[in-house]
Amino acid sequence: MNSMDVGAPVITLDGPGGAGKGTVSMLLARELGWHLLDSGALYRLVGLAAEHHGVSLDNEAALSVLAEHLDVQFLTGKDDLVQVILEGEDVSHELRTERVGGLASQVAALSDVRRALLSRQKAFCELPGLICDGRDMGTVVFPDAPLKIYLTASADERARRRLEQLRQKGISASLCDLKKDILERDARDMNRSTAPLRPAEDAIELDSTQLSITEVVDLILAEAKSRGLISQASSA
Ligand code: C5P
Repeated sequence: MNSMDVGAPVITLDGPGGAGKGTVSMLLARELGWHLLDSGALYRLVGLAAEHHGVSLDNEAALSVLAEHLDVQFLTGKDDLVQVILEGEDVSHELRTERVGGLASQVAALSDVRRALLSRQKAFCELPGLICDGRDMGTVVFPDAPLKIYLTASADERARRRLEQLRQKGISASLCDLKKDILERDARDMNRSTAPLRPAEDAIELDSTQLSITEVVDLILAEAKSRGLISQASSA
């Protein structure tokens, strides 16, 4: 099933880690009352499930079976906070750690794992619409999406934002280590042979280095309005 089959509009947000896609996507989904797909969470879950089951990160066949049969629930609670339950265990906190991000980017380089997650991602496309956040939303998963955004920011700014996010959670980290991790992950995501991170040909590229989250959200809403994806009344 593609985005057009159910007639639900899709806005894709792709780009490197730390550019603000997660927060922007969540705010857009909340503002419009649309569904939200955090595709990175699925790759993180596969990495975590592999660790729990002692599956090696180069065992593509076993990892794709894990991906195909992921036993996961996304429970939306107060303030739209999503609780992620993997095989009955709440992994919401662990899922967001840098360590699990690293596992995710390794399993995400495997084409059979990506294939195994494809239909699960497409199934998020339901009325009234879908906001999706990832690396290949506009190029592979929803190539027919009527609005595609490629959100970037400088590596220094992304590392600074990541440090701030971690600090708010009471986790300490070094800016230098975070920047190194970000650059390593960018290189892995951009240079892999399957679904490499790159803007779709028809994507709008937005550099958020000098923009606030609100400015990015407003720019995307204005573009969605001008394309007739949302009514004038749907947002301020
Ligand atoms: O966005 P997030 O940091 O949660 O993604 C974790 C990792 O999952 C990324 O570094 C990337 O390697 C992988 N990913 C991907 N394709 C997506 C979403 C995430 O390859 N659509």
